[in-house]
Amino acid sequence: MLNIKNLHVKLEEEDKQILKGVNLSLEPGKVHAIMGPNGSGKSTLSYVLSGKDGYEVTDGSAQLEGVDILDMEAEERAAAGLFLAFQYPVEIPGVGNMTFLRTAVNAQRKLRGEEEMSAGEFLKVVRAKAKDLKIDADMLKRPVNVGFSGGEKKRNEILQMAMLEPKMCILDETDSGLDVDAMKLVAQGVNALRDGKRTFLVITHYQRLLDHIKPDAVHIMANGRIIKTGGPELALEVENNGYADLLEEIA
Ligand code: ADP
Ligand code: MG
Ligand code: MG
Repeated sequence: MLNIKNLHVKLEEEDKQILKGVNLSLEPGKVHAIMGPNGSGKSTLSYVLSGKDGYEVTDGSAQLEGVDILDMEAEERAAAGLFLAFQYPVEIPGVGNMTFLRTAVNAQRKLRGEEEMSAGEFLKVVRAKAKDLKIDADMLKRPVNVGFSGGEKKRNEILQMAMLEPKMCILDETDSGLDVDAMKLVAQGVNALRDGKRTFLVITHYQRLLDHIKPDAVHIMANGRIIKTGGPELALEVENNGYADLLEEIA
């Protein structure tokens, strides 16, 4: 589904190399987790994959279903099935949440040459999905993320994901700042989307999320590289021992 080879990325503005040869291969239907110390490049990886400006790819490649994505516009990547749930969801004053969702869904359909979702169908679908995530009707009418609590913002990211039905979902610390109940809702939202083909890259600081979203593989990222890959037990090891031992091992 997603194949990242030797990805090297630097900042456009400064001569600072952030990703120093990332290799990752995600098969359809799998859930991969990335953990790692702050500043190791996890968010940068998710931004570069989804097409945020300000980064320069100096080497390597990333393919979605065999198609190179790094030269594509962000909206083309989204239409191709890539989705990023932001670590820090953005507030968009003046744009109603529902309008935003419907515009996004239909813009993607248009780019794919598909028919628009009718207003009636959209309403039915968005209400049902919002209900599953305990997002009330009022939050659907308010401007995107404006005045939402941390947990509401994160659940709203999952609602976007549920509406867009992407093939490749990247979640950047969607569990950070959530209480246990909100984390379970987020995990349920993710698990509801697992269908054996849809693929997930879950970036997290906490092993706890992975009790609810069972990963097939866990990768540790440090200093711009994946330094270790293992099964779910690797997340437990990190939770218990921290990263120091691993970093020393590598050094
Ligand atoms: P993580 O998500 O693993 O905590 P990030 O990808 O956010 O790490 O950051 C990796 C490194 O790149 C950090 O040292 C961070 O300060 C730096 N960095 C990322 N984006 C920028 C930017 N736009 N300007 C300056 N430094 C940046
Ligand atoms: Mg961080
Ligand atoms: Mg980050």
